[in-house]
Amino acid sequence: MRPAFVISLDEELIWGSFDHTPEDRWSAENPDPRGVVRDLLGLFEEYEIPCTWAVVGHLFLRSCERGTDGRAHPELARPSFPWHQGDWFAGDPCSDRQRAPLWYGDDLLDWILDARVGHEIGCHSFSHVVYGDPGCGAEVARDDIKACLEAARSRGVTLRSFVFPRNVEGHHGLLAEHGFSAYRGEDPAWFRPLPSRPKRIAHLADQLLGITPPVSSPHERLPGLWNIPGSMIFLPRNGVRRFVPLATRVRKAHAGLARAVAEQRVFHLWFHPFNFSADRIAMLRAFGSVLRRAAELRDRGFLDISTMGQLALQLSARGRTRTHLATA
Ligand SMILES: [Zn+2]
Repeated sequence: MRPAFVISLDEELIWGSFDHTPEDRWSAENPDPRGVVRDLLGLFEEYEIPCTWAVVGHLFLRSCERGTDGRAHPELARPSFPWHQGDWFAGDPCSDRQRAPLWYGDDLLDWILDARVGHEIGCHSFSHVVYGDPGCGAEVARDDIKACLEAARSRGVTLRSFVFPRNVEGHHGLLAEHGFSAYRGEDPAWFRPLPSRPKRIAHLADQLLGITPPVSSPHERLPGLWNIPGSMIFLPRNGVRRFVPLATRVRKAHAGLARAVAEQRVFHLWFHPFNFSADRIAMLRAFGSVLRRAAELRDRGFLDISTMGQLALQLSARGRTRTHLATA
C-alpha cells in the first residue's frame, strides 16, 4: 500500500469528562475549547490537510428536552458501569447551546463542514458510553449508534468512521451492521499489554524519550470494517506531561511520518482538541510543524494524507480489484 498519514480528533467537549471532572473545573482547565477548534481548522486549511473529526453525537444537537419521566433521552438504554453511580445522562442539562455550550456543538459541526479542505465527520458515540466495558450491553450500544446516525442524518452527514470512547473497543459487529467502514483501534505501542498503572508510566517514559511510534497496515476486522490503528497521541501539556518537552512531541511525530514512508504503512496521529488548552500557542506551533512536514512529504509524492473514511474506501476498492483479478 501507499504510505499514509491519518489524523483523527476526538471532539467531545464535556462529554468525555463529565463522569470524573466537575463542569466548573473542566471549564477552568479548558477556558476556550471552541477557540482551539477554530485554531486547528486554520492550521488544517493552511497546509490543506483534511482529518477525521470524531464528534460525540450529542454535540450534533443545538438543544434537547427532558422526557415526560424527567430523564434526558429516556428512549436510550442506559449502561451500568460499576465505576459510575446513577443515570448516565444525569448531567445532560436538557437545555440549549447558548445556556450550556459544553453539552451542544451544532456550531462546531458548521465550522468543520464549512472548511474547504474536506474534513470527514466521524463518530465518537452519542454520549461517550464506553463500548468495550461489560456494563455497555448490545442494547445500549445499538441505541447509542442509532442516536448518532439519527443526529447525523438530521445534518445531512453520513457516518463512516468510529472512534471508541476511551479507546476501549467493543460491539464491532454493530458498527459493521450500521454502515461504518473504519474504526481506530488501540495504538499497538510496546507498553500496550501492561496493566493500567505501569502502562501510564511507560507511556510517559515513551513520550519523554520520543521513541519512534508504531505504524500499521489496516486490517479488515469484519467484511467492510477496517481497523486503522492509532500510532500516537499528540500529548497534552497538562499535569506531569508538561515535563515532556514540546520538541520531543514534534520529533516523535516526525519519526512516525518517516517510518510510514520507509515501511509503506499508516502513521495515525490523534488527540482531543481540548488537549491543546494548556500552553495553546506553543502546542499549535508544534503541531503546525508536524503538518508542515507531512505536507512536504505529500507534495513530493512520498506520502498520502487521508481521512479514515477515505482510506477505508481505498482499501475496500483495492480488495475488490484483487478479488476480481483472482476470479477473472
Ligand atoms: Zn440531551
